[in-house]
Amino acid sequence: MQNYTIAEIDLSVLQSNMKIIKSIADGVKVLNIVKANAYGHGIVEISKASEQFGADALGVANVQEGVKIREAGVKLPILVLFQHFKDESDLVCKYNLNPIISNDECLDEYDKYLKKNGGSLNLYIKVDTGLNRMGARPEDVLELSKKVLSYDTLNIEGINTHYAAADMKDEHSKEFTNNQINIFNEVLNNLNKNGINIKNAHTANSAALISYKNTYFDMVRAGIILYGYTDSFYDLGIKPILSLKSHVVLVRNIKKGESISYGMTWTAQKDTKVAVIPIGYADGVPRKLSNNWEVKINNKYYPLRGRVCMDSIIAEIGNDNIKIGDEVLIFGNDKKLNADTLADKAGTISHEILVNIGERVKRIYK
Ligand SMILES: *Cc1c(COP(=O)(O)O)cnc(C)c1O
Repeated sequence: MQNYTIAEIDLSVLQSNMKIIKSIADGVKVLNIVKANAYGHGIVEISKASEQFGADALGVANVQEGVKIREAGVKLPILVLFQHFKDESDLVCKYNLNPIISNDECLDEYDKYLKKNGGSLNLYIKVDTGLNRMGARPEDVLELSKKVLSYDTLNIEGINTHYAAADMKDEHSKEFTNNQINIFNEVLNNLNKNGINIKNAHTANSAALISYKNTYFDMVRAGIILYGYTDSFYDLGIKPILSLKSHVVLVRNIKKGESISYGMTWTAQKDTKVAVIPIGYADGVPRKLSNNWEVKINNKYYPLRGRVCMDSIIAEIGNDNIKIGDEVLIFGNDKKLNADTLADKAGTISHEILVNIGERVKRIYK
């Protein structure tokens, strides 16, 4: 059975984005973030491709995601970026995941498992430098580190933090980010002074990678940039790897004065034609785009008319010769129609647009 509504994912673009990221990162290691189903792109496929294309590590949000890609055969280090629950500690050890800890909550659990089953665990300490979401407070890091090192089953593999506003250009945000960098450096110095030398420090997300060279340390964490979006991505040669596409399923005549779709929000000013396209907000086209987006059919742009429905959208095609079965680009590697321009219209960020691509949209890799 053919799939008519698809997310086409070009892995060769992933590879070229990774090359560009590597050259920007200037020799430090690169961790590919694959959380949230790889920002909607398919966690198993993107993880395997990342491994093949030379990523140094992968980042997931939770233990389930880590287990999933480990079971799919991924050998790279897998960092669990967010705090996990105590009763997931056995899985972390069993699947050789690298947890990032904010406190000592799970240390006894890891130790118990490892004493019983053998082996050791490499973990990361998270420092809260101002995001106030996760991480140990700066003044508590030394004590937490000493505590970890008191277990002979546990190693501190690295230390990290996360920025609150690395993507923002105003003075306050720049100051805030630089302050976070300073706090992180002070924490590292204090550990060093106390004889604790942690080798793998990382702080940069995509925005910091682009805007703050002094955030690279030993590794950068490439998220949205990997998928082709970040500030002025076109200038860097970074390209979107996913194109959301569908096909025209009906062509209809509309008479002057008739309205289209729920709520009668658009009325034809003259006789015209519309194409009905079987993709809607269930598939990741925000309802907010009602009467406020275009789609590309046969290399021409056509405006959406009326409300975005759960399962369909309707574009006005005038008298153009568009046929049932013609391919429709909703967004993708297109200067006008991409997740960034779409996010602007929907009042959000490209991350949210990508992760909201619906489950029933078939991912097709090339
Ligand atoms: C999601 C995430 C990233 C990646 O952020 P982008 O803005 O997509 O680059 C980096 N670090 C952590 C801790 C994250 O949770």
